[in-house]
Amino acid sequence: MEQTYVMIKPDGVARGLMGEILSRIEKKGLKIAAMKLAVMEESKAKEHYAEHAARPFFPGLVEFITSAPSLSLIVEGKDAIKIMRALNGATKPAEAAFGTIRGDFAMDTGRNIVHASDSPEAAAREIKIHFGNDKILSYKRSVDAYLYE
Ligand code: UDP
Repeated sequence: MEQTYVMIKPDGVARGLMGEILSRIEKKGLKIAAMKLAVMEESKAKEHYAEHAARPFFPGLVEFITSAPSLSLIVEGKDAIKIMRALNGATKPAEAAFGTIRGDFAMDTGRNIVHASDSPEAAAREIKIHFGNDKILSYKRSVDAYLYE
């Protein structure tokens, strides 16, 4: 099964949207393989967003991401990377379809509540940054027989 890294950013946590977002992930059928509530270290935030280091929004993004607790997840399932990006919706909330997390709950690009890896390479890299030293549970769900043929 494919794994992806998902973050409920500080705005999502502060606005009391963790339960709503986790519920959408679970109801879709994706499996939560790991979950960690923490204030992200600056070095991890910089590494996570390294591809944007030269962009004007980078300092503000790092400051925001490290300003308060965020929820890091490893989410698992068939095509988990694509499905999680679709659940999140477009980066800019004005372009995010209703029914997506950003489309339903966000107003501004810099406060778009959620992150999900955009490729298998990014997923492996981001899981290593945020869960590299952690022991990840392995558990079976009986519901999988009703989610996958
Ligand atoms: N971002 C921002 N301003 C911008 C573009 C991006 O604050 O003009 C932030 C926003 O939080 C976004 C993140 O940088 O989610 C990463 O941008 P990317 O284009 O990779 O979007 P994502 O993969 O999060 O949809």
